[in-house]
Amino acid sequence: MAEIALEGVTKVYEDGTEAVSDLNLTLEDGSVLVLVGPSGCGKSTALKMIAGLEEITSGTIRIGDRVVNDVEPGERDVAMVFQNYALYPHMSVHDNMAFALKLRKVERGERDRRVREVASSLSIAELPKKKPRHLSGGQRQRVAMGRAIIRRPQAFLMDEPLSNLDAKLRLQTRSQIARLQRELGVTMLYVTHDQTEALTLGDQVAVMSRGVARQVDPPERLYDRPDDLFVASFIGSPPMNLVGARVSREGGSLRLDFADVTIPLDAETVAAQPALAQYVDREIVLGVRPEDLGEASSANGQARRTRIPAVVELRESLGSEIYVHFDVKAPPVVTSQTREVAADLSDEALEELERQAAGRTTTFVARLDARSAARERDRIELAIDPRGLHFFDPATGRRIEA
Ligand code: ADP
Repeated sequence: MAEIALEGVTKVYEDGTEAVSDLNLTLEDGSVLVLVGPSGCGKSTALKMIAGLEEITSGTIRIGDRVVNDVEPGERDVAMVFQNYALYPHMSVHDNMAFALKLRKVERGERDRRVREVASSLSIAELPKKKPRHLSGGQRQRVAMGRAIIRRPQAFLMDEPLSNLDAKLRLQTRSQIARLQRELGVTMLYVTHDQTEALTLGDQVAVMSRGVARQVDPPERLYDRPDDLFVASFIGSPPMNLVGARVSREGGSLRLDFADVTIPLDAETVAAQPALAQYVDREIVLGVRPEDLGEASSANGQARRTRIPAVVELRESLGSEIYVHFDVKAPPVVTSQTREVAADLSDEALEELERQAAGRTTTFVARLDARSAARERDRIELAIDPRGLHFFDPATGRRIEA
């Protein structure tokens, strides 16, 4: 296995589309890097340039010690797994998997041994004689992975390999990919549109937008400290609640106001965020994740000083937790970044954002304990965990921090 590095990689297609701009990424040996982002952000283009299926306009790609800019795809020693499995329909599972070894003139005994080994690690040991048309979607996907693994390439490149599977199989296959990657210690670049896949599979996750990697970090950091409004609104489900808030001085500390809510910031929060003082008497964007908004009456709500009154508009029970939606009488945050995330979600999501902007009302979501008695139309009191507050500059969209 080998490290893969992209240095200042740019791709301009013949029609002038700049699909990838000055991309810098390092994929460490034996680790998983996930590229995630809205459709059209350049994920597949980046992957194809590494595989050698698209030329690089400028920059350098290294696999191991070798600059591969001008190396033929077949010579790069990477294996690709796509969403359409592309198995040879007339060959059995065994022959599909052994094919690449046969081309490399690996002798028969060794071929059979490796097929058995890989088939068993993928739980498809019982399938070798079957033809692809007799397999389920999940089995076909595993055979496709087996075919890639068996060559023992320097790295795996996966382009949305699970997107054709139904929800349950997707979950199962995702765990299997994770387990296999750990067992074999393979280097893997994984492209997906799905943030859950990105967060669960990636050692590092690069969130891309319009050809640019906006943030490259381990999943926890992306989630806890998003660098900008794009990452903040793209990562998280349900997404982070965002609203414009005014910063004022209060005594020796600061407070935030939006709609009819005042959030006094404790000394600890202010000390951790000295940059916030530069925004006194100005607006910032305040972000709070649903799980950092709890019911004031619940055990962990007691400790939280800041209260927000809310009327439950919608209650969604997931069994293990409850999401309640409520209206905040302040316009939603509409910037090119939040619009891009909404547009990627659906036309309806973008329309909803615009409708809320026109009505100067933002829908917030809070995650309540499964035992909460809150019902629709109930008036409840929510408490905010101040450690869960995120602050962004409204003009640049950048995170405000020390
Ligand atoms: P993603 O995989 O994130 O959906 P792509 O890498 O497929 O994004 O595409 C990035 C951008 O490049 C998009 O604007 C897309 O329309 C454009 N693009 C992709 N392939 C080509 C091509 N062969 N010629 C011109 N533009 C392309």
